Parts: sequence; structure tokens; C-alpha cells
Amino acid sequence: MIPGMAPAFRPAAPRPVVIAGNWKMHTTPADAGELARTIGTRTRVPGVIRVLCPPFVCLAAVRDAVADDSVRAPDGLGVEVGAQDVHPEPAGAFTGWTSAPMLAGLASWVIAGHSERRRDAGETDELIGRKVLAARAHDLRTILCVGEQLEEREAGRALEVVDRQVRDCLGDADPARFGMDEGAGRPWLTIAYEPVWAIGTGRTARGSDAAEMADAIRATLGALGFPNGGAGVPILYGGSVTAAAIAEFLAEPAIDGALVGGASLKADEMAGIVARAGLTAAARAAT
Ligand code: PEP
Repeated sequence: MIPGMAPAFRPAAPRPVVIAGNWKMHTTPADAGELARTIGTRTRVPGVIRVLCPPFVCLAAVRDAVADDSVRAPDGLGVEVGAQDVHPEPAGAFTGWTSAPMLAGLASWVIAGHSERRRDAGETDELIGRKVLAARAHDLRTILCVGEQLEEREAGRALEVVDRQVRDCLGDADPARFGMDEGAGRPWLTIAYEPVWAIGTGRTARGSDAAEMADAIRATLGALGFPNGGAGVPILYGGSVTAAAIAEFLAEPAIDGALVGGASLKADEMAGIVARAGLTAAARAAT
């Protein structure tokens, strides 16, 4: 820098727009690849990071199906693959589990703390926090799910519940390691706000409520020491997102995309969702 001159002003880069599909316990190795390719070829929209999260046994089929240029958007973005869960330990006597190092070459993203795993596998925030650390240690990008139950929202406790989840899941995470992976243009940490009562029910949150929660999550991230008050961490909305419903969420500047469950198994729905996400990505790129 020339002495006496102010440093050049570098505006913060806009947060990336991410659409992730959680296929839950659907598809088989025989049909997952074809579905992934169909979705990939129909969602070639510039500026949108697309992630498909099939069951573990379908990861290789999906990886292979999206490996060629037919799914690539004009800006070069391809379809990325995520796992739906990960064990916190790298190896050991843990029957039926899958560890982060086992996912090398199969997935570059992982979902942690999905409410169906909290409900069905009794996952606690403490365990989920260890999964987030394990994922990062093995260069997997985490989509951390948080969200309140219906009774908690009705009791006016939604913000408090999600604040506690974020603190308990990320309290041991070094914020410096969970920012943007600048070289790859991908975040190491993405948070999906998924009100439990909206998942698989056909009932969505209000866009304004999701945005209020995203602001609150960023305030919690800031309190945990994330740079710029968590401003760089993408926050997705999840809960009965469809092509018809996505616009309300992406109209909110605090929301950076969606974690899509049921609708992510339908190519038409994904085409509509990613097309709308592309408008947000283009608008952000233009600012
Ligand atoms: C999900 O699985 O994370 C989800 C939000 O599901 P759905 O879109 O079906 O509500």
C-alpha cells in the first residue's frame, strides 16, 4: 500500500445461494443415478450451488451420474454430493455407522442434526456438535439443521430454542475454520433452519419468520465469535419447500437457499426451485 493512501475498500462478497436436496430413505442404487442426472440436467442455472444428498448406498451412483458436463451450469457449477449423516469418530466398533473419512471420494457435503435423526436416533446437540467437528476435520462441508417444535413456537420460545441448539452444536467449533473456503467458493458451514412442524407436513413457515430466525442465528454465531456477526454463513430454510413456495423465502435477503426434502425427489419441482434460486443469485451478483 502506498503510504498515506487508504486501503482499497473490498465489499463483502455476497453469500452463495445453495439448494440442497435431502432424499431421506428414498431411491436405490439402481435408480438414484438416473434421478440425479435428470435433476442435474434440468437445473443448470448459473450461480446456484446444487447439492444432492441421497442415502449412503446411493452415493456412488449419484456421484458417477453427475460426474460429466451434462449437469454443469453455463458458469461451470456442477452438482455436488452430500451424505445425510456422519459418525463423529473416524473408525471403530460402531456397527452400522459411516465415518467422515469413509466418505472421501463419495461426498463433499454432509447433513448433521436433521430433526428426523434427533427424533428417531435420539441425537443430542452435543453429539451433533462432534459430527460437525469430524466433518470439518475431513474436509466435508456441513449443513447443520436446527429448528423448533410446534409447541415451542406456540409458546413463543422458538428463538430461544434455536439459539441454544446453535450454541450447543457449535460451542466447540473454531469459527476461523468454519468460514468460507475461499479457493472453492464454498462455505464450510451452512445452517438450515428447519422448523420441525414444517418438515414433511405441507405447512411452511412464513418467510418473515424464517428471516427473523436467520437474523437471530447470525446473532448467535456472532456471539460465538464467527467473523462479522456470522454474516458469511449461509442460512437455508427447510420445511415443505416446493417450487411454488420457494419465492417467499428467497425474497428475504437473510435466507440463502433451501434444504428440500420431498420435493427434491421430483425433477419438475427441483427445476422450479433452482430456477427461482438463480434469480436471487443473479441479483446478488449484480450488487
Ligand atoms: C428435510 O428433509 O430437510 C425437509 C425439509 O423435508 P420436506 O421438504 O419434505 O419438508
